Amino acid sequence: MRTGFPDFRLGSVLSTSFTGTLSERHGDAVERIPTPQRLVDWLAVYGLAVDSCTTAQLDLARELRESIHAAATAAAIGDALPAPAVHAINSRSTRGRAAAVLTPEGERQWRLGPASAVEDALGVIAADAICLISGERDGRLALCASPTCRAAFFDTSRSRTRRWCDMNTCGNRQKKARFNAGRHSGRPAPSDTP
Ligand SMILES: [Zn+2]
Repeated sequence: MRTGFPDFRLGSVLSTSFTGTLSERHGDAVERIPTPQRLVDWLAVYGLAVDSCTTAQLDLARELRESIHAAATAAAIGDALPAPAVHAINSRSTRGRAAAVLTPEGERQWRLGPASAVEDALGVIAADAICLISGERDGRLALCASPTCRAAFFDTSRSRTRRWCDMNTCGNRQKKARFNAGRHSGRPAPSDTP
């Protein structure tokens, strides 16, 4: 992308959407929160609005992100959880001071502290990851079938057979590749490939 920043991939699960801010980890990795302001933008989308973010806070966020990725990947394949990742997730979860409040309309909102808003937001994300990795929530942690992605995602489909972290990106690409392979099989290779 020449101008602006890479788009966000927005999923419905907070902590795995957060790990998705670095995508194509096994290909040409795309950093979707390259600046503190982009983290501010991302948090706002998930109801965790903060006024500002420092470079140090962005570093904390990325450390948490990679820790969640490592722990969720281990959980998805049935490996032991990596201790440094568990430590980092716990430390962010215990230091966050966000409070859940109920709106008159019956919706949950997060109230972040004025002095530690980014840390509080990261605490909410860490707690969400703990909920997923510990199996508290109904669903299954799995790894994306795309070989250049392998993102950990949370499968809440009834059959628990979802294969891709995101249907619009990884799923679509794989389907197209399969379609093209099928179309070209048994035929001469096209001479005018774009
Ligand atoms: Zn994927």
